[in-house]
Amino acid sequence: MVDSHAHLDFAEFDDDRAELFAAMHAANIRRCLIPGVSPAHWDKQLDVAAQFDCPFSLGIHPWWANSQWQPQMAELRSRLYGLAGEQRLVAIGECGLDKHKNENWQWQMPLLEAQLALAAELDLPLILHCVKAHNELLALLARYKLPRSGVIHGFYGSVEIAKRYIELGYRLGIGGLLLNDDAVKLHKVVAQLPIESFICETDSPAMAPKNSVSRRNSPLIIGQIITKMAHLQKKSNVLISERLLANVTQLFEL
Ligand SMILES: [Zn+2]
Repeated sequence: MVDSHAHLDFAEFDDDRAELFAAMHAANIRRCLIPGVSPAHWDKQLDVAAQFDCPFSLGIHPWWANSQWQPQMAELRSRLYGLAGEQRLVAIGECGLDKHKNENWQWQMPLLEAQLALAAELDLPLILHCVKAHNELLALLARYKLPRSGVIHGFYGSVEIAKRYIELGYRLGIGGLLLNDDAVKLHKVVAQLPIESFICETDSPAMAPKNSVSRRNSPLIIGQIITKMAHLQKKSNVLISERLLANVTQLFEL
């Protein structure tokens, strides 16, 4: 199993990171992709990725979009060029749009567009974050037509919206929300669309499912997400695990 999106560099994991990786390996969770969020996070993120041999992406999350986005993009570009040949660098992101965070909306769009252009230039797939802005994101992705596309991580939307992303060549990242009984829209998406459309993720330490004992989410719930996906798809766990592994391996060339 692979967790395609977990922020294991965050401070929430400082006290027991090595133990968590040992527990992940014991549970057959072989790899975990650590996405980037802001320039201030990149040094520690790269250290953790190197120490635990994790694939990673570099990018600027919309929550961290601000008036300094141009110099930050210059730093992102130089970091990415400096990492040329690094096998563990597999994507750009996470980047995207988030209308919950209204106060910096004016900088989110130019910041995202600059990262889409960089993904095209470096021929890397994207890890995209999108909250309440699917129409805006779909319009942008249709305009950029990136050959390696990417993933809409932590997808939550209707079957209609899901199909529009899939038509553009994007995959959907399915996480802990799927384990909530009231996530009916997401259950329909997983039940009705082909398994090729999905990869699985946790977004740890965020997005702990409602029935979880700990408020800190961890990659250890990946098995439960796969079991739920297999149930919704009416297929065996083994088959769904194999397909999801093939999808994530292909997308990020792991
Ligand atoms: Zn994330």
